[in-house]
Amino acid sequence: MISVEEALRILASATAALPAQDCPLGEALGRVLARDVVSDVDWPPFDTSAMDGYAVRLADLQQLDRPLPERTRVAAGDAPTSPLAPGEVVRVMTGAPIPEGTEAIVPVERVRRESGLVSFEAAPEPGAHIRRRGESIASGTVLLTAGRRLAPGDTALAALAGADPVSVFRRPRVTIAVTGNELVDVSRRPGAGQLRDSNGPMLAALCRASGLSPALAGRVADQAEDLERLFGNAGAGEDVLLTSGGVSAGDLDLLPGVARGSGFEILFHGVSVRPGKPIAFGRRNDTLWFGLPGNPVSTAVGFQLFVRYALDRLEGNARPGAPRVSARLATALRPAGPRETYRDAIVRGSDGELRVEPLATRGSHDIAAHARANALLRLPGGSGPLAAGSMVECVLIGEVDSRQSTVDRSP
Ligand code: AMP
Ligand code: MG
Repeated sequence: MISVEEALRILASATAALPAQDCPLGEALGRVLARDVVSDVDWPPFDTSAMDGYAVRLADLQQLDRPLPERTRVAAGDAPTSPLAPGEVVRVMTGAPIPEGTEAIVPVERVRRESGLVSFEAAPEPGAHIRRRGESIASGTVLLTAGRRLAPGDTALAALAGADPVSVFRRPRVTIAVTGNELVDVSRRPGAGQLRDSNGPMLAALCRASGLSPALAGRVADQAEDLERLFGNAGAGEDVLLTSGGVSAGDLDLLPGVARGSGFEILFHGVSVRPGKPIAFGRRNDTLWFGLPGNPVSTAVGFQLFVRYALDRLEGNARPGAPRVSARLATALRPAGPRETYRDAIVRGSDGELRVEPLATRGSHDIAAHARANALLRLPGGSGPLAAGSMVECVLIGEVDSRQSTVDRSP
């Protein structure tokens, strides 16, 4: 059986960024840039005032008892005026282009004005309250690099560089199907031996949290003909088919066989990971298939570790996969089994560092424990006991709360 690392290597070589497309900047939040955004302007674009005040020459303010005449006034949006002449001052508003020769701005609160003459309390520091052209960004600077997922602040940079539309990679189209004769729709009360499909809604929500709009193929019975139809049609409207169930060793675990029979090459089936060992991954032309095991925590962990990585790769994200952090273990842990293990856990910011509290879980069906987790605590296969206070690696799957310093034990 292959390792997690090996599985990720296989996923990396089976995936590449989808074609680039133009996207209006106003709709580009969360999209991955396909081209660098380069500034075609300096920022600030001209020498400007940071305050409402007076543009002055330093030599004119050596004798403070002599008021100076106010020549003119410039506001933001005005064209620059002629250079500042010796012995005069110019009234400037915040954001106004300052006259050439300005050596400092004196805020309006620091002056007295009387019949066109301005008196100063103190000599300013050279350069005070002047914002110089290009001091923040020089024209030609790469502001955002291809492969970056656009955050709100990035939108401001793209806008000032005139990048509208922006070039982004196409998002992968995903179809979700759940398999299992025992499943009933969420709207129904399960009969004897039945249970509601929770993996379908969960996988759809995980895709939506990644900014995708998955298609829902619904429930498919553990029956060769139904599964053959699912795999036969795969690729018509999607880049990725996600299924849950039917990939382990039971008599009705038919998916890998049907996938192979439908022309999919199985690139792996079984990863040395806990939970989620039976996960399968295959490909037919440009269509990828992930067969996630049906136990809900296995489904979720398989998505977080493998599917998310592959979807990010397809979207051209230069940093694919869920973010990882190191955190201090809040309680001692027993040795892990032979497989690489991912424990449901809560990571919190506390006293200037991250702390991680493993959650008690009954196993890969314990969705109640998993639903509370914001992290998966990684234990390498065969790792020994860990003392409280050890540093461990965690995969972040939810938001980290840094406001509390104590661990929340509520259900
Ligand atoms: P399987 O991987 O098909 O052997 O399924 C393993 C177990 O996961 C089943 O016995 C069910 O209890 C559970 N399961 C499978 N599919 C789902 C689903 N869509 N929603 C919730 N639980 C499921
Ligand atoms: Mg099943």
